[in-house]
Order: sequence, then C-alpha cells, then structure tokens
Amino acid sequence: MNRRFTERQVIRAFWKRVNKNGPLPLDRPELGRCWLWMTGIKGDGYGAFTANGKSLLAHRFSYTILIGPIPDGLELDHLCRRTGCVNPSHLEPVTSLENTQRGERATRTHCRRGHPYSGSNLYLLPHVKGRDCRTCRKLANQKRKKAKNEQKIANSIIA
Ligand SMILES: [Zn+2]
Ligand SMILES: [Zn+2]
Repeated sequence: MNRRFTERQVIRAFWKRVNKNGPLPLDRPELGRCWLWMTGIKGDGYGAFTANGKSLLAHRFSYTILIGPIPDGLELDHLCRRTGCVNPSHLEPVTSLENTQRGERATRTHCRRGHPYSGSNLYLLPHVKGRDCRTCRKLANQKRKKAKNEQKIANSIIA
C-alpha cells in the first residue's frame, strides 16, 4: 500500500479536485474566476491534501507548479479573499505581517472614523486591492481644496 505517486500523477489528481469555474472575486472581478478547491478544506479555510505521505496546502502547491517556487519565508496572500481558491493569479507572495494586516483590513466593516464600508459609502480603489470610505475621501478632498484656496489667498497677499 506504500505506493509512491509520480509528480505527474500527483498533479493530475490535484487538478481533478479543482473547480476552475468558481465565482468572481467580489472586490477584484478583473482577476477572473476563482479556482475552488473541492475537497479537504482545513479549519482555517485553506485547501489541503496529502501526497506521498506529505501534507500540502493546495494554494501553495498550485502556485509552485504554475508560477514557480514561493520566495523563502513568504506567505501567499489571496487577493480574492477566498482562502479555498487555488488560482495562482489570485495569489501574491507577501510577508506574514503584510498578510495579517491585509486580512484585518479586508474584514473590517467600518473605516477608522466609524463610517460603514457598505452601500454607497464603500469606495473600491480602482488600481490597488483595497476599499476606502467615501465620506472620508470627501472630507480629505475638501481639506485639500481648502488648503489650496488658503495658499492661493496667501500667495495673492504676498504678490
Ligand atoms: Zn480566487
Ligand atoms: Zn470614513
């Protein structure tokens, strides 16, 4: 029963457990569909499987076979925020600290001034992964405008 599987066999068995027709990421639909790991989801939400007596994390395995080795000491952050997803284009190597901070930011329901991250107040940042608060953006904008105006007045007084 101690049959060893070749790398090819392991990889073939791996893809049989992946559904590439998953949902689009809520915050980042432009990344394309999630590839969902169908069996063996661990308590922390990560997909896991065993091959040749070794326990492997599905998303790390997928990244390694399709993109390459994960840089030493780095974790893979799910840009789609679905830990059961193994689509390598949804995975970005980051430090453990950055990974934790990103996770906390993503699950926060309110901005630091207490405005809700929902409905019309939620602003999805177009180029980076992230969310922002419309109320705070508006306040920051008004502040910038006011400062600009004051600068203009100051300049005209000097001139
Ligand atoms: Zn995904
Ligand atoms: Zn706010």
